[in-house]
Amino acid sequence: MRYAILADIHGNLTAFQAVLDDATKQGGFDEIWCLGDIVGYGPEPHQCIELLRSFKHLCVAGNHDWAAIGNMDTSDFNPAAAQACQWTAKQLTGDDIAYLTALPLTIVQDDFTLAHGSPREPIWEYLLSVELAIENLDYFTTTYCLIGHSHVPLVFEQIEHGMAYRVLAHGMRIELGKNRLILNPGGVGQPRDGDPRAAYAIYDSEEQVVSHYRVEYDISATQRKMAEHGLPLSLILRLSHGW
Ligand code: ZN
Repeated sequence: MRYAILADIHGNLTAFQAVLDDATKQGGFDEIWCLGDIVGYGPEPHQCIELLRSFKHLCVAGNHDWAAIGNMDTSDFNPAAAQACQWTAKQLTGDDIAYLTALPLTIVQDDFTLAHGSPREPIWEYLLSVELAIENLDYFTTTYCLIGHSHVPLVFEQIEHGMAYRVLAHGMRIELGKNRLILNPGGVGQPRDGDPRAAYAIYDSEEQVVSHYRVEYDISATQRKMAEHGLPLSLILRLSHGW
């Protein structure tokens, strides 16, 4: 089986579609594993939920998914994110809200735990350091853990004398073995590692390999739609820089 691992789609349908097209070219996939934040920031939240739901998939809740359905207040969000969140909430259908409301915080599937932020704090924690990765090992029981939230593609690997980490680059293949791993495929809809291309990964369960990919998409098309809806300029501009 092959699984497309996607995180932080953030209402960016153009990026989401480009990732799906690219994943098909890379050998296809049987199922999507989505690591949360389907909505928030981008101009087509409802369409992204609808497209995701048209595939066999698993999905956990992200902080923006929760904020959009009023599951938490947005006082911790910066003003642009809060404004986008309020706009997003108005675009959702009753069915979208029911779907987002039902998303679990974590999912255990085969030898993987799926969480948005981290297994310890699924909604909020940004897992970006070796220290935090070590602490989080006690919070999941599977060999591997998949996360999103930081929009930075990287992998932490438990080694004999500690924890190693690598930033993922396009075409990189992570061979799964006995070592425990925490892997972030990067963000689909709002990359934040200085590379504006959409990021994702494919897990091939037969080969036991996770491959990381970047794909160009029509950034200006997403930006135009955001401008039409009056979404904050800072959120529009950051897509050009991948930040
Ligand atoms: Zn996010």
